[in-house]
Amino acid sequence: MTQSQTPDGMWLRCDGCGEILYRKALERNFFICMRCGHHFRIFPEQYIKIILDNGLKELDSDLAPSDPLEFPQYREKLAKARSKTGKPDAFSYGKGKISGRPVVFGVMDFRFIGGSMGSVVGEKIARSIRLARNKRLPLIIVSTSGGARMHEGMFSLMQMAKTAAELGLLRQAHIPYISIPVDPCTGGVMASFASLGDIIISEPGALLGFAGPRVIENTIGEKLPKGFQRAEFLLKHGFLDMVVSRRDLKETLTRILSILWPQKQDESGTL
Ligand SMILES: [Zn+2]
Repeated sequence: MTQSQTPDGMWLRCDGCGEILYRKALERNFFICMRCGHHFRIFPEQYIKIILDNGLKELDSDLAPSDPLEFPQYREKLAKARSKTGKPDAFSYGKGKISGRPVVFGVMDFRFIGGSMGSVVGEKIARSIRLARNKRLPLIIVSTSGGARMHEGMFSLMQMAKTAAELGLLRQAHIPYISIPVDPCTGGVMASFASLGDIIISEPGALLGFAGPRVIENTIGEKLPKGFQRAEFLLKHGFLDMVVSRRDLKETLTRILSILWPQKQDESGTL
């Protein structure tokens, strides 16, 4: 990730138009460029602030990964990511409220080894789905990831099946799951729970897909169409239900929840 994509520092250069923007003003504008509308990448704490009323009541916040394959440098990478994010892995979840409506909310952190899904991320996602089913609360997950975490090999890959199976049970219980894959969301995450939402919403310009464009071009031996794997292209081709400006994300979720889950909050579980 380049400095210009990271909302740190006082001044930031927009990747969309090159404009130099004052961080505080950008923050007030949901990290959307005031000039061209480019959506900067943001992190869990910002999504929690934008989407939830009063923060996240986090669960399993101390669940930390082990190194089952003794993969070279993995422990060092985990320690570095932990000191960078203050978290033991790349996914946080818990209960929260959206415009007064209780939900189970989860969010991935791209800063933590590219938001990759190992056994702890997969387990926590599975637990968040189970919590939504047990408490009968709608589930909302913001996903951003490079895919399965290679340092845990098959332990990572099996999380795809595990999260998908849990979502199958949630569906049987008729509880809605709104998936919000944001830039970038690829690989085993996009190929499992992130693409299994009853409603799938993304942000303008987000890159979403399984393999990257260069890999696909080399495999099929053809040039890909312009804008391939960007949110607008995917909306047009039926992969996404909506592309929503971050500014309107909370309002959109409120509207969807009022339709899909119209119970009063005291009937759908207490916080
Ligand atoms: Zn711009």
